[in-house]
Amino acid sequence: MTTISGKCLCGAVAFEADRTSNRVDACHCDACRRWSGHFWASVNVRRETVKFLRGEEKVVWFRSSAEVRRGFCTQCGSALFWQPDRHPVHHHIFAISAGSIDKPTGLALSEHIFVGEKGDYYGIADGLPQKTGH
Ligand SMILES: [Zn+2]
Ligand SMILES: [Zn+2]
Repeated sequence: MTTISGKCLCGAVAFEADRTSNRVDACHCDACRRWSGHFWASVNVRRETVKFLRGEEKVVWFRSSAEVRRGFCTQCGSALFWQPDRHPVHHHIFAISAGSIDKPTGLALSEHIFVGEKGDYYGIADGLPQKTGH
């Protein structure tokens, strides 16, 4: 178990969490691309290990589907969290944007998911696994 820390662009929201893996997934689905501005790269932690150091009240949650909500800083707009809070099995997952994690992150991009929905303006040529689903 390793503790990671991160914050949004303006710094109003800061947090820590325990990660169990160093894997970063890059999601190329339509929703993640629109929300993040490109593709969404995140690390999964367990929801109960997330501790807000400040600004939890500045996080606004947008419900992007019946089972999933996405959290962003209401002050600067940074996309921070993806969370399947209403998923019957995976509700304990709390995905944190890789870009918000403080360096050294100890993380490594590990795979691309939903590549069938990726944007048409870029290629993926880093040799990592590519999945059409997740
Ligand atoms: Zn902010
Ligand atoms: Zn996605």
